[in-house]
Amino acid sequence: MQKISKTVVISCRVLRHHMKSGATAYKHGRAFSMASVKCYYETAKSADCRSPAAVRTIDLRSDTVTKPGPVMRRAMAEAEVGDDVFGEDPSVNELQKMAADIFGMEAALYVPTGTMSNLIAVMVHCRERGDEMIVGDLSHLHVYEQGGSAQLAGVHSTTVSNLADGTFDLEQLESKIRHGYPDPHYPRSRLVCVENTHNIQGGRVLPLSFLRELRFLAEKYGLMVHMDGARVMNAAAALGVQPSAILEHCHTVSVCLSKGLGAPVGTILGGPKDFIQRAVRARKALGGGMRQSGILAAAGKIALSDMIGRLEEDHRNARTFAEALLQCDPPLYQVDLATVETNILRFRVCDSWLSPAEFCRRMATVGEGEEKALGQGVQVLMFPHVGGSVRAVWHLGITEDDTQLAIQKARSVAQQFAQQRARSQ
Ligand SMILES: *Cc1c(COP(=O)(O)O)cnc(C)c1O
Repeated sequence: MQKISKTVVISCRVLRHHMKSGATAYKHGRAFSMASVKCYYETAKSADCRSPAAVRTIDLRSDTVTKPGPVMRRAMAEAEVGDDVFGEDPSVNELQKMAADIFGMEAALYVPTGTMSNLIAVMVHCRERGDEMIVGDLSHLHVYEQGGSAQLAGVHSTTVSNLADGTFDLEQLESKIRHGYPDPHYPRSRLVCVENTHNIQGGRVLPLSFLRELRFLAEKYGLMVHMDGARVMNAAAALGVQPSAILEHCHTVSVCLSKGLGAPVGTILGGPKDFIQRAVRARKALGGGMRQSGILAAAGKIALSDMIGRLEEDHRNARTFAEALLQCDPPLYQVDLATVETNILRFRVCDSWLSPAEFCRRMATVGEGEEKALGQGVQVLMFPHVGGSVRAVWHLGITEDDTQLAIQKARSVAQQFAQQRARSQ
C-alpha cells in the first residue's frame, strides 16, 4: 500500500508540473494516462491531485463519497447507545425495527458493510459446505467481493449471464439448477441472488414482472432468493412504488445506508426472524459484532427517514446530464437514454483517440483559460468503466447547479478535443 501511495503522489506531482509547463494537452494525454488512472482509483489520494481552492470539484465517481451533513452529525453525537452485542443499543434496535417496517420484512440486522451483509446472507442460506448459489456473472457479489462466499463460506457459485437491464434469462437459470442431490456427484442448489439496481449495468431497475417470475421458479425448486439491494431504494423511487412492493418477491435483502442514502457507514440485512437470528451469529463469526454502534445507527435512521425521498433528484440530474451529452456540439458522446433509470449513468466517448481514462483525466483537470470560459475552474471526477464506457454517479453532494457545471465542462472538453484533432490532421 505504502509503495502505491507514493507512486500516486509522485505521478500527480509530475502531472501538475507538466500541466504548468505549457506542453500541449494532447501530449499529456499520451504520456500521463497511467498517472491519471492512478489518481482516480486511489480515492484517498485525490487530495494530492487537487487544484487550488477556487476550483469547484464535482465528484461523480460514486455515491459512496457522500458525507454526513449537520443533522446527521448531531444525531450521531446525541445518540443513545448501549452494547449491541448484548442487544442493548437502543439506537441500533430502533434502526433495525424501522428498516424491517420499510422492507415489509419480519426482522433486520445492522451490519458494517454491504459486502459483509451479502456474505452473511450466503452463509445463512447455504449452510452445507459445497452448497451452490446462482448469481449474475456481472453481479457485485460475483465480481467485486473477492469470492468471499467461496473463500470464507465454502459456497460454490454458478453464474447466469446478466442482460443489459440487470436481469437474466429465466430459462438459463432453470438449466443451472441441480437436481442430483444427494447423489455425491453434485452440489445442492440453494440460493439465487439478484442485484437491484444493477451496478455494473448502470443502475438498471429490475422489472417487478421479472422478480415475480423468478420467485415463482424459486418456489418450484425450493430455492431462496436474496436481493443485493444496495440501491434498492433508488429502484423503488424509479418505479414509484414502496420498497416493500419490490422486496415481497425475495426472501432476504441487503440495503446500503452508506451510498445514496448518505450515512457514513452501514448496511441493513433484512429477512425472516429465524434468518436474522442466524445472521447475528454469522456476523459475530465474521468479526462484525459492534458495541456502541448506535453512534453509527443514528446516522442510518436519518438515512431512512430523510434521504429516500430525495433520491429522485439524483435520478433527474443524471438524466439531465445524459440528455446534454447527446446534444453536445461537437458530438462526442453516446448514451442510450432508455438505460438511464436511476443515479448511475454509463456513456461512451465516441472517438478512439480519446480513451475513457484520458477523457476522465481531462474532465478532472482545470484547463488553461477555463476560469474565464466557465466562470470558475471546474474539476469533474468520473471513473472509466467496463467495456470502454465511462461511469458517473449522482448523489446528495451534487446539486442541479453542479450538474450544469459538469455539462459545461463536458462540452468544453469536447470542444478542445475537436480543436486538437483538427490541428493534428
Ligand atoms: C456497494 C455495493 C455493495 C457492497 O457494499 P460495501 O458497503 O461497499 O461493502 C454490494 N452490492 C452492490 C450492488 C454495491 O453497489
